[in-house]
Amino acid sequence: LDLIRGKWVVISTDFALKPADFPINRNGSYISNNRFCPFCEGREEHTTPEVAACRAQDSLPNSPGWDIRAVPSKYTAFKLEGQLHSCETGLLKSCSGPGQHEVIIETPCHDQELHQFSDDRMEKILTLIRQRYLQLAEDERIKYIQVYKNRGLFSGASLEHSHSQIIGIPVVPNNTPGLTKYYSENNKCLICSIIEEEKAAKQRIVYESLYFLIICPYASRFSYESWIIPKEHAEHFSDITDAQLKDLAHISIKFLKAMVDSLDNPSYNMGVNNAPVNILYEKGYHWYIEITPRLMVTNGLELATGLYINPAAPELAASIFREAMGL
Ligand SMILES: [Zn+2]
Ligand SMILES: [Zn+2]
Repeated sequence: LDLIRGKWVVISTDFALKPADFPINRNGSYISNNRFCPFCEGREEHTTPEVAACRAQDSLPNSPGWDIRAVPSKYTAFKLEGQLHSCETGLLKSCSGPGQHEVIIETPCHDQELHQFSDDRMEKILTLIRQRYLQLAEDERIKYIQVYKNRGLFSGASLEHSHSQIIGIPVVPNNTPGLTKYYSENNKCLICSIIEEEKAAKQRIVYESLYFLIICPYASRFSYESWIIPKEHAEHFSDITDAQLKDLAHISIKFLKAMVDSLDNPSYNMGVNNAPVNILYEKGYHWYIEITPRLMVTNGLELATGLYINPAAPELAASIFREAMGL
Protein backbone atom coordinates (compact mmCIF):
# COMPACT_ATOMS: atom_id res chain seq x y z
CA LEU A 1 0.00 0.00 0.00
CA ASP A 2 1.37 3.37 -1.02
CA LEU A 3 0.51 5.31 2.16
CA ILE A 4 1.17 8.69 0.58
CA ARG A 5 -1.07 8.25 -2.46
CA GLY A 6 -3.47 5.85 -0.75
CA LYS A 7 -3.18 3.38 -3.65
CA TRP A 8 -2.27 -0.29 -3.91
CA VAL A 9 0.73 -1.24 -6.04
CA VAL A 10 1.03 -4.77 -7.42
CA ILE A 11 4.53 -6.23 -7.12
CA SER A 12 5.18 -9.40 -9.07
CA THR A 13 7.63 -11.46 -7.06
CA ASP A 14 7.72 -14.55 -9.31
CA PHE A 15 9.11 -12.90 -12.43
CA ALA A 16 11.90 -10.49 -11.64
CA LEU A 17 12.79 -8.68 -14.87
CA LYS A 18 16.46 -7.80 -15.23
CA PRO A 19 17.38 -4.54 -17.02
CA ALA A 20 17.75 -6.28 -20.40
CA ASP A 21 14.39 -8.12 -20.13
CA PHE A 22 12.09 -5.13 -20.66
CA PRO A 23 10.27 -4.90 -24.00
CA ILE A 24 11.41 -1.38 -24.87
CA ASN A 25 15.06 -0.66 -25.39
CA ARG A 26 16.66 2.67 -24.60
CA ASN A 27 16.19 3.93 -28.15
CA GLY A 28 12.45 3.68 -27.72
CA SER A 29 11.75 0.85 -30.12
CA TYR A 30 10.53 -2.70 -29.64
CA ILE A 31 13.24 -5.26 -29.10
CA SER A 32 10.68 -8.04 -29.30
CA ASN A 33 9.93 -7.64 -33.03
CA ASN A 34 11.45 -10.89 -34.11
CA ARG A 35 10.92 -12.70 -30.87
CA PHE A 36 9.17 -16.04 -30.96
CA CYS A 37 5.40 -15.43 -30.70
CA PRO A 38 3.58 -17.91 -28.42
CA PHE A 39 0.14 -16.65 -29.53
CA CYS A 40 0.36 -17.82 -33.18
CA GLU A 41 -1.64 -20.87 -34.29
CA GLY A 42 0.39 -24.07 -33.96
CA ARG A 43 2.22 -22.89 -30.82
CA GLU A 44 -0.50 -23.75 -28.32
CA GLU A 45 1.92 -25.69 -26.11
CA HIS A 46 3.77 -22.43 -25.42
CA THR A 47 0.81 -20.88 -23.58
CA THR A 48 -0.85 -22.10 -20.39
CA PRO A 49 -3.76 -24.51 -21.12
CA GLU A 50 -6.82 -22.68 -22.46
CA VAL A 51 -9.78 -22.03 -20.14
CA ALA A 52 -12.17 -21.29 -23.03
CA ALA A 53 -12.02 -21.02 -26.81
CA CYS A 54 -14.01 -20.59 -30.00
CA ARG A 55 -12.75 -23.44 -32.13
CA ALA A 56 -13.76 -25.86 -34.90
CA GLN A 57 -16.00 -28.61 -33.54
CA ASP A 58 -13.61 -31.38 -34.53
CA SER A 59 -10.55 -29.69 -32.98
CA LEU A 60 -9.09 -30.51 -29.56
CA PRO A 61 -8.33 -27.98 -26.81
CA ASN A 62 -4.79 -26.60 -26.97
CA SER A 63 -4.35 -27.66 -30.60
CA PRO A 64 -4.73 -25.72 -33.88
CA GLY A 65 -8.21 -25.05 -35.30
CA TRP A 66 -9.18 -22.17 -33.00
CA ASP A 67 -10.56 -18.74 -33.72
CA ILE A 68 -10.17 -17.12 -30.29
CA ARG A 69 -8.53 -18.54 -27.14
CA ALA A 70 -8.63 -17.55 -23.47
CA VAL A 71 -5.54 -18.64 -21.50
CA PRO A 72 -4.32 -17.72 -18.00
CA SER A 73 -1.47 -15.23 -18.23
CA LYS A 74 1.98 -16.74 -17.79
CA TYR A 75 3.40 -13.56 -16.35
CA THR A 76 1.08 -12.44 -13.62
CA ALA A 77 1.27 -11.38 -10.00
CA PHE A 78 -2.12 -12.99 -9.33
CA LYS A 79 -2.99 -16.62 -8.63
CA LEU A 80 -6.37 -17.90 -7.52
CA GLU A 81 -4.93 -19.67 -4.48
CA GLY A 82 -5.66 -19.25 -0.77
CA GLN A 83 -7.54 -16.46 0.92
CA LEU A 84 -6.72 -12.77 1.00
CA HIS A 85 -4.45 -12.11 3.98
CA SER A 86 -2.81 -8.87 4.90
CA CYS A 87 0.43 -8.24 6.68
CA GLU A 88 1.59 -5.16 8.54
CA THR A 89 5.09 -4.43 9.80
CA GLY A 90 5.57 -0.89 10.99
CA LEU A 91 4.71 1.33 8.04
CA LEU A 92 4.75 -1.53 5.54
CA LYS A 93 1.31 -2.85 4.73
CA SER A 94 0.77 -5.51 2.10
CA CYS A 95 -1.69 -8.25 1.19
CA SER A 96 -1.55 -11.48 -0.80
CA GLY A 97 -2.86 -11.49 -4.35
CA PRO A 98 -5.54 -14.13 -4.92
CA GLY A 99 -6.86 -13.32 -8.37
CA GLN A 100 -7.00 -14.48 -11.96
CA HIS A 101 -5.36 -12.90 -14.99
CA GLU A 102 -6.30 -14.17 -18.44
CA VAL A 103 -5.28 -13.31 -21.98
CA ILE A 104 -7.82 -13.38 -24.79
CA ILE A 105 -5.89 -14.19 -27.98
CA GLU A 106 -8.16 -12.50 -30.49
CA THR A 107 -6.98 -14.15 -33.71
CA PRO A 108 -4.75 -17.03 -34.82
CA CYS A 109 -3.08 -14.69 -37.36
CA HIS A 110 -0.06 -12.73 -36.18
CA ASP A 111 -0.55 -9.75 -38.48
CA GLN A 112 -4.27 -9.17 -38.11
CA GLU A 113 -5.20 -6.36 -35.73
CA LEU A 114 -8.38 -5.51 -33.85
CA HIS A 115 -9.40 -2.58 -36.08
CA GLN A 116 -9.11 -4.89 -39.10
CA PHE A 117 -11.39 -7.58 -37.68
CA SER A 118 -14.81 -8.42 -39.11
CA ASP A 119 -17.87 -7.54 -37.01
CA ASP A 120 -18.38 -11.28 -36.64
CA ARG A 121 -14.96 -11.87 -35.05
CA MET A 122 -15.45 -8.90 -32.73
CA GLU A 123 -18.84 -10.28 -31.68
CA LYS A 124 -17.23 -13.62 -30.82
CA ILE A 125 -14.47 -11.89 -28.81
CA LEU A 126 -17.00 -9.86 -26.82
CA THR A 127 -19.10 -12.97 -26.23
CA LEU A 128 -16.05 -14.83 -24.89
CA ILE A 129 -15.14 -11.89 -22.65
CA ARG A 130 -18.69 -11.79 -21.27
CA GLN A 131 -18.42 -15.53 -20.54
CA ARG A 132 -15.06 -15.15 -18.75
CA TYR A 133 -16.36 -12.12 -16.80
CA LEU A 134 -19.32 -14.13 -15.49
CA GLN A 135 -17.05 -17.05 -14.61
CA LEU A 136 -14.51 -14.90 -12.72
CA ALA A 137 -17.33 -13.13 -10.84
CA GLU A 138 -18.35 -16.51 -9.39
CA ASP A 139 -15.23 -16.63 -7.22
CA GLU A 140 -15.92 -14.82 -3.94
CA ARG A 141 -12.27 -13.80 -3.56
CA ILE A 142 -12.49 -11.61 -6.65
CA LYS A 143 -13.80 -8.11 -5.88
CA TYR A 144 -13.24 -6.29 -9.16
CA ILE A 145 -12.85 -7.34 -12.80
CA GLN A 146 -11.04 -5.20 -15.35
CA VAL A 147 -11.09 -5.91 -19.08
CA TYR A 148 -8.38 -4.10 -21.03
CA LYS A 149 -6.23 -4.03 -24.11
CA ASN A 150 -2.73 -2.71 -24.79
CA ARG A 151 -1.88 -2.08 -28.43
CA GLY A 152 1.55 -0.87 -29.54
CA LEU A 153 4.80 0.14 -27.95
CA PHE A 154 3.55 3.11 -25.93
CA SER A 155 0.52 1.25 -24.58
CA GLY A 156 2.63 -1.12 -22.51
CA ALA A 157 2.02 -4.12 -24.79
CA SER A 158 4.85 -6.64 -24.57
CA LEU A 159 3.61 -8.86 -27.42
CA GLU A 160 2.45 -7.61 -30.81
CA HIS A 161 -0.01 -10.43 -31.55
CA SER A 162 -3.52 -8.99 -31.06
CA HIS A 163 -4.88 -9.79 -27.60
CA SER A 164 -6.99 -8.40 -24.75
CA GLN A 165 -6.76 -9.17 -21.07
CA ILE A 166 -9.18 -9.75 -18.24
CA ILE A 167 -8.10 -9.63 -14.64
CA GLY A 168 -10.03 -10.41 -11.47
CA ILE A 169 -8.40 -8.81 -8.42
CA PRO A 170 -9.01 -9.12 -4.64
CA VAL A 171 -9.33 -5.36 -3.98
CA VAL A 172 -11.50 -2.60 -5.49
CA PRO A 173 -9.22 -0.07 -7.22
CA ASN A 174 -11.54 2.86 -6.40
CA ASN A 175 -10.40 4.77 -9.46
CA THR A 176 -13.81 6.32 -10.20
CA PRO A 177 -14.82 7.93 -6.87
CA GLY A 178 -16.95 10.55 -8.67
CA LEU A 179 -19.54 7.95 -9.69
CA THR A 180 -20.65 6.93 -6.20
CA LYS A 181 -20.25 10.47 -4.82
CA TYR A 182 -22.53 11.93 -7.51
CA TYR A 183 -25.13 9.22 -6.94
CA SER A 184 -25.20 9.74 -3.19
CA GLU A 185 -25.58 13.51 -3.63
CA ASN A 186 -28.05 13.54 -6.54
CA ASN A 187 -29.74 10.17 -6.32
CA LYS A 188 -29.06 9.54 -10.00
CA CYS A 189 -26.28 8.08 -12.12
CA LEU A 190 -23.50 10.42 -13.26
CA ILE A 191 -22.89 8.55 -16.53
CA CYS A 192 -26.63 8.64 -17.36
CA SER A 193 -26.55 12.39 -16.66
CA ILE A 194 -23.45 12.81 -18.87
CA ILE A 195 -25.28 11.01 -21.71
CA GLU A 196 -28.20 13.45 -21.41
CA GLU A 197 -26.00 16.55 -21.35
CA GLU A 198 -23.71 15.42 -24.16
CA LYS A 199 -26.70 14.57 -26.36
CA ALA A 200 -28.05 18.07 -25.78
CA ALA A 201 -24.68 19.78 -26.38
CA LYS A 202 -23.78 17.55 -29.39
CA GLN A 203 -20.26 18.95 -29.92
CA ARG A 204 -18.38 16.11 -28.18
CA ILE A 205 -20.45 13.30 -29.70
CA VAL A 206 -18.62 11.15 -32.24
CA TYR A 207 -21.33 8.64 -33.00
CA GLU A 208 -24.65 7.38 -31.70
CA SER A 209 -26.03 3.92 -32.41
CA LEU A 210 -29.17 2.25 -31.18
CA TYR A 211 -27.58 1.17 -27.87
CA PHE A 212 -24.34 3.17 -27.52
CA LEU A 213 -22.94 6.66 -27.53
CA ILE A 214 -19.31 7.42 -28.49
CA ILE A 215 -18.02 10.69 -27.08
CA CYS A 216 -14.74 12.50 -26.50
CA PRO A 217 -15.22 13.26 -22.79
CA TYR A 218 -15.36 16.87 -21.56
CA ALA A 219 -12.39 16.48 -19.18
CA SER A 220 -10.24 14.26 -21.45
CA ARG A 221 -6.90 13.61 -19.76
CA PHE A 222 -5.40 12.37 -23.02
CA SER A 223 -5.58 13.82 -26.53
CA TYR A 224 -8.26 12.07 -28.61
CA GLU A 225 -9.48 10.08 -25.61
CA SER A 226 -12.89 8.52 -26.36
CA TRP A 227 -15.55 6.65 -24.44
CA ILE A 228 -18.10 4.12 -25.65
CA ILE A 229 -21.04 4.27 -23.25
CA PRO A 230 -24.08 1.96 -23.16
CA LYS A 231 -27.16 4.22 -23.21
CA GLU A 232 -29.10 1.87 -20.98
CA HIS A 233 -27.99 1.96 -17.35
CA ALA A 234 -26.06 -1.20 -16.38
CA GLU A 235 -23.29 -1.75 -13.84
CA HIS A 236 -21.33 -4.58 -15.42
CA PHE A 237 -20.16 -5.36 -18.93
CA SER A 238 -21.62 -8.84 -18.39
CA ASP A 239 -25.12 -7.27 -18.28
CA ILE A 240 -24.87 -6.67 -22.04
CA THR A 241 -27.63 -8.34 -24.10
CA ASP A 242 -26.97 -10.20 -27.37
CA ALA A 243 -28.49 -7.36 -29.40
CA GLN A 244 -26.35 -4.77 -27.60
CA LEU A 245 -23.27 -6.93 -28.05
CA LYS A 246 -23.85 -7.13 -31.81
CA ASP A 247 -24.23 -3.35 -31.97
CA LEU A 248 -21.06 -2.83 -29.86
CA ALA A 249 -19.04 -5.15 -32.12
CA HIS A 250 -20.10 -3.18 -35.18
CA ILE A 251 -19.56 0.34 -33.84
CA SER A 252 -16.30 -0.42 -32.03
CA ILE A 253 -14.68 -1.79 -35.20
CA LYS A 254 -16.04 1.15 -37.20
CA PHE A 255 -14.71 3.63 -34.64
CA LEU A 256 -11.31 1.95 -34.11
CA LYS A 257 -10.71 1.87 -37.86
CA ALA A 258 -11.38 5.62 -38.06
CA MET A 259 -9.30 6.29 -34.92
CA VAL A 260 -6.27 4.30 -36.14
CA ASP A 261 -6.47 5.96 -39.59
CA SER A 262 -6.90 9.52 -38.42
CA LEU A 263 -4.18 9.32 -35.73
CA ASP A 264 -1.68 7.60 -38.06
CA ASN A 265 -1.55 4.18 -36.43
CA PRO A 266 -1.10 5.10 -32.76
CA SER A 267 -0.46 2.94 -29.73
CA TYR A 268 -3.62 2.84 -27.64
CA ASN A 269 -5.20 1.35 -24.52
CA MET A 270 -8.78 0.28 -24.01
CA GLY A 271 -10.35 -0.38 -20.63
CA VAL A 272 -13.83 -1.50 -19.64
CA ASN A 273 -14.78 0.05 -16.29
CA ASN A 274 -17.24 -1.85 -14.13
CA ALA A 275 -18.83 -1.97 -10.69
CA PRO A 276 -17.14 -4.16 -8.05
CA VAL A 277 -18.28 -7.77 -7.55
CA ASN A 278 -18.81 -9.96 -4.45
CA ILE A 279 -18.83 -6.98 -2.12
CA LEU A 280 -21.39 -4.48 -0.83
CA TYR A 281 -20.83 -1.24 -2.70
CA GLU A 282 -22.44 2.15 -3.05
CA LYS A 283 -24.69 2.83 -6.03
CA GLY A 284 -23.61 4.87 -9.02
CA TYR A 285 -21.58 2.54 -11.24
CA HIS A 286 -22.41 2.44 -14.97
CA TRP A 287 -20.01 0.41 -17.13
CA TYR A 288 -18.27 2.10 -20.05
CA ILE A 289 -15.25 1.70 -22.30
CA GLU A 290 -12.34 4.15 -22.29
CA ILE A 291 -10.14 4.29 -25.39
CA THR A 292 -6.89 6.15 -24.82
CA PRO A 293 -4.53 6.80 -27.73
CA ARG A 294 -0.96 7.08 -26.39
CA LEU A 295 0.31 9.95 -28.49
CA MET A 296 2.61 11.39 -25.83
CA VAL A 297 4.61 9.87 -22.98
CA THR A 298 3.35 10.80 -19.48
CA ASN A 299 5.51 13.73 -18.35
CA GLY A 300 6.96 14.79 -15.02
CA LEU A 301 4.16 17.18 -14.04
CA GLU A 302 1.53 14.54 -14.80
CA LEU A 303 3.39 11.87 -12.80
CA ALA A 304 3.96 14.17 -9.84
CA THR A 305 0.62 15.95 -9.61
CA GLY A 306 -1.85 13.81 -11.54
CA LEU A 307 -2.60 17.01 -13.47
CA TYR A 308 -2.77 16.12 -17.15
CA ILE A 309 -2.24 18.63 -19.92
CA ASN A 310 -4.17 17.83 -23.08
CA PRO A 311 -3.18 19.80 -26.18
CA ALA A 312 -6.20 18.64 -28.25
CA ALA A 313 -9.60 19.81 -27.03
CA PRO A 314 -12.27 17.07 -27.00
CA GLU A 315 -14.55 19.13 -29.28
CA LEU A 316 -11.81 19.15 -31.93
CA ALA A 317 -11.10 15.44 -31.39
CA ALA A 318 -14.80 14.58 -31.82
CA SER A 319 -15.08 16.57 -35.06
CA ILE A 320 -11.98 14.86 -36.50
CA PHE A 321 -13.35 11.42 -35.61
CA ARG A 322 -16.79 12.26 -37.07
CA GLU A 323 -15.14 13.21 -40.32
CA ALA A 324 -12.97 10.06 -40.30
CA MET A 325 -16.12 7.97 -39.83
CA GLY A 326 -17.69 9.69 -42.83
CA LEU A 327 -20.39 11.42 -40.79
ZN1 LIG B 1 1.79 -14.32 -33.26
ZN1 LIG C 1 -26.29 5.09 -15.54
